[in-house]
Amino acid sequence: MPNEKIATLVIGGGQAGLVMSHRLKQRGLSHLVLERQRIAERWRSERWEGLQFQFPNWSVRLPDFPFPHSDPDKFASAADIVKFIEAYAAFVSPPIRCGVEVTRLAQRDGASGFIAETADGTIEADNVVIATGPYQRTLVPDLLRELPVFQVHASRYRNPEQLPPGAVLVAGAGASGAQIAEELQRAGRRVYLSVGRHRRMPRRYRSRDFIWWLAAMRIDHITPEERGPARLGPVISGAYGGRTIDFRNFAADGMTLLGHIEAAHDGVIEIAPGLAESLADGDLAYVTFLDIVDEYVKRRGLELPDEPGARTTIPDPPCVTAPLQRLDLSAEGISAVIWATGYGVDFGWIDIPVTDAKGEAVHRNGITDVPGLYFLGLQWLSKLNSSFLSGVGDDAAVLADHIRAHR
Ligand SMILES: Cc1cc2nc3c(=O)[nH]c(=O)nc-3n(C[C@H](O)[C@H](O)[C@H](O)COP(=O)(O)OP(=O)(O)OC[C@H]3O[C@@H](n4cnc5c(N)ncnc54)[C@H](O)[C@@H]3O)c2cc1C
Repeated sequence: MPNEKIATLVIGGGQAGLVMSHRLKQRGLSHLVLERQRIAERWRSERWEGLQFQFPNWSVRLPDFPFPHSDPDKFASAADIVKFIEAYAAFVSPPIRCGVEVTRLAQRDGASGFIAETADGTIEADNVVIATGPYQRTLVPDLLRELPVFQVHASRYRNPEQLPPGAVLVAGAGASGAQIAEELQRAGRRVYLSVGRHRRMPRRYRSRDFIWWLAAMRIDHITPEERGPARLGPVISGAYGGRTIDFRNFAADGMTLLGHIEAAHDGVIEIAPGLAESLADGDLAYVTFLDIVDEYVKRRGLELPDEPGARTTIPDPPCVTAPLQRLDLSAEGISAVIWATGYGVDFGWIDIPVTDAKGEAVHRNGITDVPGLYFLGLQWLSKLNSSFLSGVGDDAAVLADHIRAHR
């Protein structure tokens, strides 16, 4: 039997859950937030220590709460972001219970509304906002069990000392893989980096940061309908002051670039051809972005300096012109593999038909077909910046207005 009733239940105490609470409070709507661990848990236990935020300090904000900083152009650490979200929680002062996990969410029998099961009992709610994050489940290829070395997903990687001595293979060269590979190389490790298709972007161009350009050109407001099929996130980094990533520079410093990992057996990895094509693809994304900016500057008559040097190309290093086709881990002294292979969602605990065949949430701008059930904080919820710190506030306001209108 349900033992507690609430108007709106928010599940998840990350940035999205806290922002939702702020928006509900602003409208005088009663609610409760449940967080299974601690506020901002993922920034505490699922990010490595040396992570630098990809967004410059000036652009980091939560609703009515800017990020405190001493240099607008620097990049925050994971610890800075935890402090910021904690400070935001103190500002919002949400009705929150930490250490309470919702293990099952179902609809009320024969009535509208929901029942959330937790170890402490059940909670009945008229509305539920699911804010459990865009990155809930690690994606690791099945190859894992075939490799007789230390292995860790990027979400559980902490620092270079965590790994046994020796060379390291980083599988995946998105924003996480690129930053981790560079960190390991700077820590004196020999690094092999498996690079697949990617979209690398300039850190700065024509004296403005990439994030500034996204906002100026309203690219951060592109909707899922306008986006088309492209899904790859941009490879940008705030590490070491924030620099444009060209994997050829990593190779010039001694890193070995590899193609996509295809198979693994007996400690040997088979590598697919196509590394040069992946780099060329990344270059195309980069140059296309520069072209879009140049066109925008011209159209708007902006007085921002030309930057022809940004188009300088670096020749392909030997590991690209004559790529490895197989890698014998023990012969190369590789003692660890880091899987920077991405994340998925996990809505298996939601016993309501609101997911598709792939397990992804079905909604429009966070509003589902089930009255009173909402999602917040997912990638591309309503626009590109829906899952960014700076973008969740607008989506939360839309959901709070919807809840108020349907009371
Ligand atoms: C490596 C990496 C780097 C990133 N860098 C940036 C960046 O530079 N800039 C940026 O804007 N974004 C960045 N992001 C994205 C950012 O981390 C996420 O957008 C952000 O964490 C999402 O916040 P959220 O509140 O939606 O979800 P989360 O932070 O995932 O919070 C969800 C919360 O829900 C809780 N929870 C889950 N299931 C339950 C349950 N059943 N019951 C109760 N509680 C539950 C979890 O414990 C968690 O605390 C990065 C992400 C990664 C992985």
